[in-house]
Amino acid sequence: MARRRQIYEGKAKILYEGPEPGTIIQYFKDDATAFNAQKKGTINGKGVINNRISEYVFTRLSHIGIPTHFIRRLNMREQLVRQVEIIPLEVVVRNVAAGSLSKRLGIEEGEVLPHTLIEYCYKDDSLGDPKVSEEEIACFNWCSHEEMQDMSSMAVRINDFLSGMFSGIDIRLIDFKLEFGRIWDGDFARVILADEISPDGCRLWDINTNEKLDKDRFRRDMGGESEAYQEVARRLGLLQNEDNGPGEVLDMSAHRGRLRSTPKPGKK
Ligand code: UDP
Repeated sequence: MARRRQIYEGKAKILYEGPEPGTIIQYFKDDATAFNAQKKGTINGKGVINNRISEYVFTRLSHIGIPTHFIRRLNMREQLVRQVEIIPLEVVVRNVAAGSLSKRLGIEEGEVLPHTLIEYCYKDDSLGDPKVSEEEIACFNWCSHEEMQDMSSMAVRINDFLSGMFSGIDIRLIDFKLEFGRIWDGDFARVILADEISPDGCRLWDINTNEKLDKDRFRRDMGGESEAYQEVARRLGLLQNEDNGPGEVLDMSAHRGRLRSTPKPGKK
């Protein structure tokens, strides 16, 4: 295959120039980082699973009218997406206290929030992605007021949809992170959902046992992270009849049993 031009290498993905102008290929790595990249490692098979989970989630979201950058999955580790101008904010949606919210405000992990919270963090690794206020976002013009409204209303819809989708497979959606980008049409910019949605950027707990099925297993040295990611994919029904590409083995069933599993719900 002809060599492709690499545009950017991030912590979990590599971006390559796509086959047509305005497109990009996202390559999902197994690399994992935490605590602003102070902790580094790999989660076996993570890239393959995140590619598949993110494809599934973005496709389902497009069916409810959320505009996304996703075009199609190309192979086990790559997907074709629309090139966007990334808005330099992480939009965090929280239903249950955990992580930095618990630490910052002393609220016990697992406490259900009185209502859903939306937070914004400024995307800057050298600053550790600090939480920022709407006033600061406006002051430094990281996005317009209308873009903020578009992002927050999409975040609420995405949260409602994903909470229901995950509860149908006995998973609680504790919190998650979204990224958005702009697409230009002449002088007009439209905000669309970008990046990925996977257990790397969500907290997912088993409804019955509170077992963590997300990157916290890696962050907190709990072990079983590959199996946890696989379990999410399995419950979503994504591991059946998977046509594995050459050299990629998706079946990690040998590890099963380290995580309690819930039977897959009946076909919807
Ligand atoms: N998150 C993320 N990338 C980040 C920061 C957070 O994907 O750079 C996700 C994280 O996985 C969790 C949610 O956003 O699902 C809230 O994370 P939190 O602010 O609690 O930060 P953390 O405890 O992960 O540092």
